[in-house]
Amino acid sequence: MTDVEVDLLVVGGGAAGLLAATAARRLGDTVLVVERTGLAGGATLDGDGDLWLPGNQLGAKAGEDSREAASDYLESLLGQPVDEPSAARRTAFVRTAPKLAKWLASSNVPLHAARGAADAYPELPGARTHGRVLQVGPIDRRLLGDSEDALTPEVGLLRTTFARLPLPRRTTGPGESLVAHLLHRASANGVDLWLNATATGLLTEGDRVVGATVEREEGVTRVAAKRVLLAAGGFGRSQALREEYLPLPTDASWSLAGARDDGSGLSLGRAVGAATTNLDEAWWTPVMVSGGRAYALGPALADPHGILVDAAGDRFTDETAPGDQVARAMYERSRGVRAVPSWLVMDNRHRQGCQLGPWAAGNTPKQAIEDGEVVRASTLNDLAMATGLDRAGLLGSVVRFNGFAAKGNDVDFGRGEPSRDAKGKRRNASLGKIDKPPFWAVRVYPGDAGSRGGLVTDADSRVLRTDGSVIGGLYACPGSAASLFTGATPAPGAALAESLVAAFLAVTDQRQ
Ligand SMILES: Cc1cc2nc3c(=O)[nH]c(=O)nc-3n(C[C@H](O)[C@H](O)[C@H](O)COP(=O)(O)OP(=O)(O)OC[C@H]3O[C@@H](n4cnc5c(N)ncnc54)[C@H](O)[C@@H]3O)c2cc1C
Repeated sequence: MTDVEVDLLVVGGGAAGLLAATAARRLGDTVLVVERTGLAGGATLDGDGDLWLPGNQLGAKAGEDSREAASDYLESLLGQPVDEPSAARRTAFVRTAPKLAKWLASSNVPLHAARGAADAYPELPGARTHGRVLQVGPIDRRLLGDSEDALTPEVGLLRTTFARLPLPRRTTGPGESLVAHLLHRASANGVDLWLNATATGLLTEGDRVVGATVEREEGVTRVAAKRVLLAAGGFGRSQALREEYLPLPTDASWSLAGARDDGSGLSLGRAVGAATTNLDEAWWTPVMVSGGRAYALGPALADPHGILVDAAGDRFTDETAPGDQVARAMYERSRGVRAVPSWLVMDNRHRQGCQLGPWAAGNTPKQAIEDGEVVRASTLNDLAMATGLDRAGLLGSVVRFNGFAAKGNDVDFGRGEPSRDAKGKRRNASLGKIDKPPFWAVRVYPGDAGSRGGLVTDADSRVLRTDGSVIGGLYACPGSAASLFTGATPAPGAALAESLVAAFLAVTDQRQ
């Protein structure tokens, strides 16, 4: 006996879940979204809300981008897909990304090209430096209020949900804006959303998924559904799963993912025989840790007056490369010499001019120095002593790097692009000497914005068994499913975009 019956049950009220729910409602399905926390939006609330939708005709001038260019870029970056289902998924992404952009725009979700957001490898065939990464414009919080008024009594739960949304009058971050817009659309389309409701198991009949058990304060509800979509995120914060699958050493505190990103989608799928893949992959990004929390290090790593070194004091990568590549290089390096953690070694110009984790330029809390979160020393010798870095190695690396900075050319790792200034002098804005005391150092870890492996799915986001057969009634989008983008990150916004595209495909393409 089941208590509630719907056409589509969505597990996870993040951006992907809300989008799927809205799209399904617009096709006439009855939909229930269950969200484990007291808030909709998931990890998107914490991010930039960037959406990499190549081939779209909104961000650039018409005709400047195409599906063919997007396919060329993905092929030159990731190579040929490893098998037929992967090829079909990639094709489906490229085909659907522009459709999704159009669908969002036609659903009154305002999109514009994110400024300065280029493909991560602009030199590759098919890459674009503008127009593919879209962001959502702000939304007036009062709009949500209006849509509450328009709600029918049957979806009264949404009234509560919307009333509880802790959104400011005008939303600030683009991630939060995207969520607010999607919630607004969901509400307007009559989606039913249960907060503080956790899917704890899938219901099966024969070899088909037919619903799920959902736990709430008031008890357990058996929800019957023709289709269940797992949009429940990944396992970035599960120490046990990290240790089982990710390269070692690893620590959940290095993840930027939300505390509840514990692999529940993965577990639900596996319990009904779903296959998994690429579980050793994550959305890598170098981080530092302060107060037990990870902070992405992007701009601080690229600042001219700093270098990244291993325990031997040696540089081993271009610090300005995409974060994904730098974090991978740390693990790679670790095979020979300890590079997890590595150290970002800086001079005082760096600390005075650049944000470092939670600390603004020029402002390093005394407590952080006392706690050893950051090391300060008046000489490089003392810095080596305090950090345990090899002294000769560190001094040699700094002298060599300072030489590169003087000549404007990093012979070792090609950091930045050398160019000539008006007087014909060689310069390279990414290189600056490390010679102004005091000197600083922080530990850098190969962190992530979530796991990248997961359940195996096909081009319609249907979950597959190890023999390649479809688990009827069960769909998943990345994080719960494995990412399409194995081995490299094509652009900012690729993770969120592929999740939304998969959600869209699950409900709009093929009906099971
Ligand atoms: C700090 C940070 C910054 C990021 N920045 C970007 C960016 O700029 N661009 C980009 O492309 N990607 C970014 N990402 C990744 C991006 O946030 C994710 O790709 C995106 O959030 C995926 O959305 P989703 O809805 O699929 O999953 P999530 O946002 O992970 O949402 C899953 C939801 O499911 C709920 N849930 C889990 N298990 C259950 C259960 N059993 N029952 C009920 N509910 C459950 C969770 O509570 C959560 O709300 C970032 C991630 C982080 C952590």
